[in-house]
Amino acid sequence: MQSNDHANKLYIDGQWVNADSGATFDVFNPANGEKIGEAADGSGSDAARAIEAAQKAFGQWAGLTAHQRSEYLYEAYQKMTANREHLARLMTEEQGKPLKASRGEVQYGADFLLWYAEEAKRVYGKTIPAPRSDQRFMVLRQPVGVVAAITPWNYPVSMVTRKVAPALAAGCTIVLKPAEATPLCAVEVFKILHEAGIPAGVANLVTALNPAPVGEVFVQNPLVRKLTFTGSTEVGKILAEGAARQVKRISLELGGHAPFIVFEDSDPVHAAKGAALIKFLNTGQTCISPNRIFVHRSIMAPFIREFKSRVSRMLTGSGFEDGVSIGPLVDNAALQKVQQQVSDALDQGAALVCGGRRLTEDNLDRGHFYAPTVLSDVTPQMLIFREETFGPVAPIIAFDSEEEVLALANDTNYGLAAYIYTNNLSRAMRMFEALNFGIIGINDINPTSAAAPFGGMQESGLGREGGREGIEEYLETKLGGFSI
Ligand code: ADP
Repeated sequence: MQSNDHANKLYIDGQWVNADSGATFDVFNPANGEKIGEAADGSGSDAARAIEAAQKAFGQWAGLTAHQRSEYLYEAYQKMTANREHLARLMTEEQGKPLKASRGEVQYGADFLLWYAEEAKRVYGKTIPAPRSDQRFMVLRQPVGVVAAITPWNYPVSMVTRKVAPALAAGCTIVLKPAEATPLCAVEVFKILHEAGIPAGVANLVTALNPAPVGEVFVQNPLVRKLTFTGSTEVGKILAEGAARQVKRISLELGGHAPFIVFEDSDPVHAAKGAALIKFLNTGQTCISPNRIFVHRSIMAPFIREFKSRVSRMLTGSGFEDGVSIGPLVDNAALQKVQQQVSDALDQGAALVCGGRRLTEDNLDRGHFYAPTVLSDVTPQMLIFREETFGPVAPIIAFDSEEEVLALANDTNYGLAAYIYTNNLSRAMRMFEALNFGIIGINDINPTSAAAPFGGMQESGLGREGGREGIEEYLETKLGGFSI
């Protein structure tokens, strides 16, 4: 598989084609600002073409047996696994994360293809005892129809398969628009789908520099029966409002503001290790990244000592360099947001434990690098306490009681992930039940898997991806009442 084959084309109805406008846009490496390729600049008319192709393919695809659809997904899984290194290298180039993390993400992306190859065969209906003796009730699960999907740049392979795999498994067809920062990874995923023999029109890709016109067509075209989106809460709300006009089904995976709570009965060294690993994953550009680290006052000193020692040893740089664990931020706007949150916190009395500046030495000024940063004495008045931090900054807040920290943790409009460290089983259960978040890690920093439902409460989203729940989002429920 050659990396730049078809990279500047859309994939519609089984063909690699130019955008209607003939235009392309440049794609850059965020670590050094160098151009790495071009992608087709699709627009509303391309999206409409792709939706028509998906509609045309829907009947046949939905009419295959679940076993047949499963085989295509299994083939795609095998091809993705075989191409893991190639995809991982492209991801590090295009998105910036360290190569080891890219390899992990490709595996995670492939896991969704495998999981839904299996789950396709387990879409069960049911029969229900009817109130009349001459009546029978039967419930069928059927695919919703054409799906429109929009994915973000932070996980440019796995966010694509997390939507495409369950949609195809359910019998839906799909049109996907990836983020403008990472179209090349999406092109590679669609090349794999093509090579796996997935029939023309079943999976379509429309890359675009300007997302809004494509998004509008997704919302307005009546052939689209379901919209699935991963990205910011702000854009998710716009799309949800639009989708409501035709009562389209929607799934939204939006922002998060995860609390990470370290109780006095936990081991502060173990907790600090976990916090350092998950906070700085993907340079903090993860919706389940801890955004508020609450530490019981009695163990604050050993926690900070260990946390600082780990964070200040983290290497920042190109994801291709050995030992680097912190890559670049995606763009200049992301860098500025981080800088603003840090200076606001410092102005309002936070203490800088380490980091706290843009990195420019050794050519790092060619990318958007920010030193891994730890702030202590953070208070609820600071921007960083409320705003999602999509960067390598860890704000630490002291607390004195379980009741107080529960109220502080739940004091957010978001509700995606939360983490707690405790060795008290009763407390773990109390917190698990009382935290208003969709994913709770209990002494565990990685509560995610293709097998598990991922998603948020409140303004973090609607619906779940992964697990049994992930395929439900693409299925309608139909009741048959038979008089016999
Ligand atoms: P982020 O802040 O993570 O970049 P965005 O919500 O801006 O989050 O982007 C996530 C995805 O949403 C990307 O694919 C982006 O192109 C897309 N997007 C952004 N604005 C719109 C819009 N108005 N309509 C449709 N898609 C959009």
